[in-house]
Amino acid sequence: MRRHPPTGQVSFWSQQQETTTPKCIFQPSSTIEVSSALLLAELFSCPFAVKSDGHAAFVGLSSIQNGLNIDLSPLNSLNLSKDLIVVSVGAGNRWVDVYPYLLQYNISVVGGRVLDIGVGGLTTGGISFFSQIYGWACDNVVNYGVVLASGHVVNVNPNSYTDLYWALRGGGNNFGIVTRVALSKHSQGSLWSGSLIYTPDKTDLLIEAFYNYGINAVTDPKSALIFSWGYAEGTFNFTGISALENTMT
Ligand SMILES: Cc1cc2nc3c(=O)[nH]c(=O)nc-3n(C[C@H](O)[C@H](O)[C@H](O)COP(=O)(O)OP(=O)(O)OC[C@H]3O[C@@H](n4cnc5c(N)ncnc54)[C@H](O)[C@@H]3O)c2cc1C
Repeated sequence: MRRHPPTGQVSFWSQQQETTTPKCIFQPSSTIEVSSALLLAELFSCPFAVKSDGHAAFVGLSSIQNGLNIDLSPLNSLNLSKDLIVVSVGAGNRWVDVYPYLLQYNISVVGGRVLDIGVGGLTTGGISFFSQIYGWACDNVVNYGVVLASGHVVNVNPNSYTDLYWALRGGGNNFGIVTRVALSKHSQGSLWSGSLIYTPDKTDLLIEAFYNYGINAVTDPKSALIFSWGYAEGTFNFTGISALENTMT
């Protein structure tokens, strides 16, 4: 669920991130502005953090105390190639904006399972309901537009900066600021989805079922699930298969 930020803050998923107070929040409207901010931060030795949609849980991942928070949310362009094969997505987008845009063409991309996760965080790692078939989100990035620590703006793909392409796919924010990603599409039909919640006494049976699902998953690549425990005030109060999916593409 989306949390509402205090006045003067940008929104984050976790309270820990949200209660940090940066000296400055900068919302760049172009790649060049990202590059300028990075160079200025270096010049003045200003600590900074990069935020796409702020779903990382820990302080310092995309928020910063007394530093510069670069909030990429204005980088929210969406462009589908003429042949409908590749979609170029600004790193400040959220999946809730990407999927409806693609739905009109009956296509989709490998992205977040929760709609208001950011494109920037998830495409430098991240799994999807479609990952059994198509791999991780980063496996479906055909090009990253990246601002390097030098301020240079480069395209990173299997033919250009290949070592960086390898490292970015799972490397998070360690290697540059991604301003846009080009994602390969897949066709998309209906998707079935549901949730099942059990009392804690069923935990052993559920773990066994989860194990069996795992070892047999290869026979049903269109299926996906998230298995979780509810823990509050010192007690495990439920076991849930919180998202049981059949992607039915
Ligand atoms: C409710 C919830 C559901 C989730 N569901 C899934 C899921 O289905 N699949 C999954 O794999 N993960 C999931 N996660 C984990 C989530 O994908 C990661 O935390 C992801 O990194 C969040 O991306 P973000 O852009 O929203 O977060 P942010 O906090 O903005 O960024 C996360 C990290 O990536 C860095 N980063 C962000 N944008 C850029 C950029 N453009 N360039 C360089 N670095 C950048 C940030 O600096 C930060 O370190 C979930 C998390 C939550 C809280």
